[in-house]
Amino acid sequence: MQPQGAVQQKISMPNVKNIIAVASGKGGVGKSTVATNLALALHMHGRRVGLLDADIYGPSIPIMMGISEVFDPNTTQFPLDRYGIKLMSMGFWVKPETAMIWRGPMVHKYLTMFLTQIPWGELDYLVIDLPPGTGDAQLTLTQTVPLSGAVIVTTPQDVSLIDARKGLEMFRQVRVPVLGIVENMSYFVGEDGKRYEIFRHGGGKKLAKEADVPFLGEIPLDPRIAECGDAGDPIVHKDPASLIAKTYVQLANTVVEQARKVAGETAELPTLQL
Ligand code: ADP
Repeated sequence: MQPQGAVQQKISMPNVKNIIAVASGKGGVGKSTVATNLALALHMHGRRVGLLDADIYGPSIPIMMGISEVFDPNTTQFPLDRYGIKLMSMGFWVKPETAMIWRGPMVHKYLTMFLTQIPWGELDYLVIDLPPGTGDAQLTLTQTVPLSGAVIVTTPQDVSLIDARKGLEMFRQVRVPVLGIVENMSYFVGEDGKRYEIFRHGGGKKLAKEADVPFLGEIPLDPRIAECGDAGDPIVHKDPASLIAKTYVQLANTVVEQARKVAGETAELPTLQL
């Protein structure tokens, strides 16, 4: 086994223009929800987008994208296609409730297979929903996948921010550019139209400032986000005209802008319509 931090052989994905990891220091902060809606927002205006669920221990992309079947890998052509997004997840092979008890190298083996042996075709963006945390599996993945950059999702509470900091540090160590930090469940707007800051608001922005990385935006706590995710039709697809969907589209625009900055591209590309 390679010791942590050792330089690993990068895999090559020449047909994929940008590979973006969505990461979080801890579980339950809304990382998969951000990855899914970000992929759908990027797909607007005809971008070719793939979504790889690398959260092998708790794949939630199948539920969020409305695919509950388990497929026979010998007879199924992966990636699957849903709402125009190319999809791969361990949850298509085993039921999501089946706990995967694997060590880092095993996780890495399967993810490398998903990346290199599945015909993704030409993609403008491949969004990877990383497992939460900064363990061996995440470290190996970030070292071997030619990532354009990482988006870190946090909630405003200190417990989440402390772990988000660890995520930042991991990407720094492996020299993957951090495209920025998203604050999820940032605030709640009640039926009275008032804004409630249930958890302490603003921690994500503060962390971004401290770490000198871009702040990508705030996503409100909204039951519709959870309802749509549970129903397998993410809000950006279900209700693209909603204010929340527009927040994700704005996030996608900022991610595209940051990815291009990091890649050193200067030509102007049209941003998505809000
Ligand atoms: P993670 O990938 O970080 O474990 P998930 O994306 O699975 O987190 O989200 C955890 C739960 O929180 C899910 O039920 C999801 O629908 C819900 N959720 C995520 N973001 C929001 C939000 N902004 N508002 C309301 N519910 C949310």
